[in-house]
Amino acid sequence: MAAGSEQWYSDDIAEVVVSAEQIKEKTAELAKQVAADYADRGEVLLVGVLKGAVMFMADFARALEHPVELEFMAVSSYGARATSSGVVRIMKDLDRDITGKHVIVVEDIVDSGLTLSWLLKYLTSRGPASLEVVALLRKPDAVKVDVPVKYIGFDIPNEFVVGYGLDYAERYRELPYVGLLRPEVYAR
Ligand code: 5GP
Ligand code: MG
Ligand code: MG
Repeated sequence: MAAGSEQWYSDDIAEVVVSAEQIKEKTAELAKQVAADYADRGEVLLVGVLKGAVMFMADFARALEHPVELEFMAVSSYGARATSSGVVRIMKDLDRDITGKHVIVVEDIVDSGLTLSWLLKYLTSRGPASLEVVALLRKPDAVKVDVPVKYIGFDIPNEFVVGYGLDYAERYRELPYVGLLRPEVYAR
């Protein structure tokens, strides 16, 4: 492949924070760890949080080598960034009952942690047999609430990133890496 994956959108991306290769390696590593931890449990139910987690969910599920069911939820946070209210609305709920299931929430990024914190309470109330979280990215300097995330891919600086599922105004999700946008992009 002559043209690198950073070719398109290259004018918009200031810096690659996590490369496609790094994501691949880390996903395999996390999958191995999870598969080992869940070896003596049966099927695992992965709950992906739309839309940001779709890429990671797809790659993680395929790397896992453990039987899974896939579920998706869509939530929207109100004022999570500005006011830290942590008020969350469910835009798409689970399609099925998770009672007695071994559930792993698959997240793109833990920023303030408010969305995830709310989501974990919600899922706990549905009576799963166990509940853990795997998140590709975390911004340690942005965390406002302590959320128990057992499996973490990368700790990144407290800056807005796009790619590999993460968007800016619904764009850049398809980038195979995670990068920083040039400031000019926000000014458009
Ligand atoms: P929270 O602040 O509740 O932990 O993050 C909620 C959601 O905001 C994340 O799941 C993610 O979808 C979005 N988010 C947080 N940080 C970033 C970021 O740096 N870039 C993008 N594109 N989305 C982010
Ligand atoms: Mg998310
Ligand atoms: Mg977004």
